[in-house]
Amino acid sequence: MFVNERPVSVAPGARVRDAVEQLDHDLAELVGRGAAYVTDGVGRPVDAGDPVGEGGAIFRVVVSARQGAPRLSKELLRRWPKAELHVHLDGCLRPRTMLELARVQGIRLPADTPEGLAQALSVKHAKNLEEYLTKYEITLSVMQTAAALERVAYEFVLDAAADGVRYVEVRYSPLLHRPALTLGQAIEAPLAGIKRGEAETGTKVGVIVCGIRTRSPAESLELARAAAEYRTAGVVAFDLAGAERGFPARDHAQAFAYAVQHGMACTCHAGEGDGPESIHQALHACGARRIGHGTRLGEDAALLEYVVEHRVPLEMCLTSNLHTHTVPSLAEHPFKRYLDRGAVVTLNTDGRLVDGVSLTDEYFLAHTVGGLAQEDLARVVLNACESAFLPEFEKVALVSRVQSELEAL
Ligand SMILES: [Zn+2]
Repeated sequence: MFVNERPVSVAPGARVRDAVEQLDHDLAELVGRGAAYVTDGVGRPVDAGDPVGEGGAIFRVVVSARQGAPRLSKELLRRWPKAELHVHLDGCLRPRTMLELARVQGIRLPADTPEGLAQALSVKHAKNLEEYLTKYEITLSVMQTAAALERVAYEFVLDAAADGVRYVEVRYSPLLHRPALTLGQAIEAPLAGIKRGEAETGTKVGVIVCGIRTRSPAESLELARAAAEYRTAGVVAFDLAGAERGFPARDHAQAFAYAVQHGMACTCHAGEGDGPESIHQALHACGARRIGHGTRLGEDAALLEYVVEHRVPLEMCLTSNLHTHTVPSLAEHPFKRYLDRGAVVTLNTDGRLVDGVSLTDEYFLAHTVGGLAQEDLARVVLNACESAFLPEFEKVALVSRVQSELEAL
């Protein structure tokens, strides 16, 4: 691999700090003391304890100009109690599970090793949101049976719990499991897997069903009707996902209205592939109570003001926004600006496999690139808990559990 443009050789399984040590012992010591930090080839900070990954990887060591407070390590952040509100089930499969499911179902995948598959599904080099979404066709190809959906949902809960997640709302579109399954079957199977995962881990999970912008409004309404039947069985909300530009949310207003009238909450992807007008529609034409991403909110000062005043939670996804080119770099991501402005910002992965991040990684990025201090990060954790689509008494219990866990740390 390369450190500061110079080639170094390390053994397989080596850590980033080993690669720096190979290049320069003094530099490695600075990293150890927190006086320097390491970034990957595109400038994202990595932890010195992270594995170096595939051969040819590029790292840069940046010596900090001033020595600030000691930084929180990824290991510590992993132990933090966390909540996640925006993550797609079909973006979170274990590569090994995908290979097993493909073998049993006789499906061809773009690679036949877990590492190769993770690489093939990585959206790191997608050109835009539309290309990013094509990776989901591959994960969905092995999720077309009830047994596969149950297993994927079960493993998702286990992985989230291992990452310190105490509450998670996971979303997917049952529409994308037809015709192999009925909408009812496509909702019941993940709910069963989730129940199994919750019982084993103690992590609580809510399900959000997604209508698809590029599908017909009639299908969205059909989905809202089907999902409302499972409102007391774990389905907490209705969302609209898919290519944003050119496919306005207001076309699906009837489905949102049905969901609201039948006791479900609504959120909506907006301000990711399109501008603030899309966020406006999500809020005012569709009754969304939270906004998925909302990255481009700041382009409309009055709308930002509204979102702050009405405490509309933003489900922000840093790494995913970089991958879809919603932001040119993490340093330019507006989440810190919105947080400082008083918006209810939450941090999320969007897709753990496709985006190649854990929730811990997102918090680590917010800490290292965004400059969020410990108390800001704790605020973000509590924002997520307070924005959960849970009955009020359960939300209060979640907030107080997480708050006391944070204090104990
Ligand atoms: Zn999303």
